[in-house]
Amino acid sequence: MPKKNIAAVDVKGKRVLCRVDFNVPVEDGIITDDRRIREALPTIKSILDRGGRAVLVSHMGRPEGAGYEAEFSLKLCATKLSDLLGKPVGFPSQDCTDAAAAKAVAELKDGQVVLLENLRFHKAEKKGDAVFAGKLAAYGDVYVNDAFGTCHRPDASMVAVPKAMAGKPRVVGFLVEKEIKFLSEAIKAPKKPFVVVLGGAKVSDKMGAIENLLPKADAVLIGGAMAYTFLKAMGKKVGSSKTEDDKLGEAKRTLELAAKLKAELHLPVDHICSTQFAEQSGDIHIFDDQIKDGYMGLDIGPKTQAKYASVLSKAKTIVWNGPMGVFEWMPFRIGTNQVAKAIAEATGKGAISIVGGGDSAAAVEKFGLSDKMSHISTGGGASLEMLEGKPFESVELLDNA
Ligand code: ADP
Ligand code: MG
Repeated sequence: MPKKNIAAVDVKGKRVLCRVDFNVPVEDGIITDDRRIREALPTIKSILDRGGRAVLVSHMGRPEGAGYEAEFSLKLCATKLSDLLGKPVGFPSQDCTDAAAAKAVAELKDGQVVLLENLRFHKAEKKGDAVFAGKLAAYGDVYVNDAFGTCHRPDASMVAVPKAMAGKPRVVGFLVEKEIKFLSEAIKAPKKPFVVVLGGAKVSDKMGAIENLLPKADAVLIGGAMAYTFLKAMGKKVGSSKTEDDKLGEAKRTLELAAKLKAELHLPVDHICSTQFAEQSGDIHIFDDQIKDGYMGLDIGPKTQAKYASVLSKAKTIVWNGPMGVFEWMPFRIGTNQVAKAIAEATGKGAISIVGGGDSAAAVEKFGLSDKMSHISTGGGASLEMLEGKPFESVELLDNA
């Protein structure tokens, strides 16, 4: 059931409590990727432009939960948001529930915005505590969830707060709506051929997504470290590649399921390998099929790159989660780069492409292909759970359209 959007709520003169996800990466006091803040702008602007009073709440990082910690302050986000909006953003105090925060909310005028301090400075946020939620709920006449990256979490601001606001409008923002449209609806009845590309560090992270997508997909292309668990389960020699030996049984069952469903499940047929898990120091060698002892697979090889590009060139819907190799290191980024290029080209020819996963999004950004994809999710864990087909309580409890 589609959810009601903030655009459908008359916000004039109302305090709109808006849960955003400003959990952005920070290095040396600088936000290194502000995409989550930029992606929240349509919702924030929609509230302000129509005379609403926006009360923004978010978490950042993993503080202790025992009060203010400068390292996890949202102050930087307030400044960044102010730059992006071109207007002041109130940032009243070091505690989202203290008297100064409550006063700032009470004194907001139409078209003004405040950002309260990190919700996770209170342990109560992660615990879903009802008393804490009640304090936040009192700040709003309307509740908006635009925190896609946190939608899979039952934290207080995601679930207990909207529950405490029953009877008031409780809606999704533009970002959450867009993420659901791509990560759930586009995949429910995908335009065919539907090709799923999965890679990254661990097969255990992605098993749920494979199982959910396999019955719908025409082809599943596997790369990254997770490929080696599958290859080992098939009895191939994988050298010292990263594998999860407790998942071999599960990998075997997945291969059998793919065969039963007649889904094409592709594994790498050649590998760029090294004797060391390092960018420069190892002996780099390409192996077909069997990897020699002492070598580990760190990227898909040229034959696999060509095969995957050819499958992708015919796709009409593409979901990609997880890099094909250790793309952070120059010698092992080609596979991920070739796959990203193939997806960008297919998108140019009319395919819908959806990229999930923090590292995959970073890779696409690194290759300068971000604007060539239909959708790049702002949520790592949340996008994966959505690909697993799991419902989110934080979204389900909101008003239907
Ligand atoms: P995402 O964040 O896109 O979901 P993951 O977190 O699952 O992706 O995996 C990304 C990580 O996997 C990267 O840091 C990358 O270096 C690593 N990786 C990819 N292929 C391999 C490999 N063959 N061996 C070891 N690590 C790999
Ligand atoms: Mg990751």
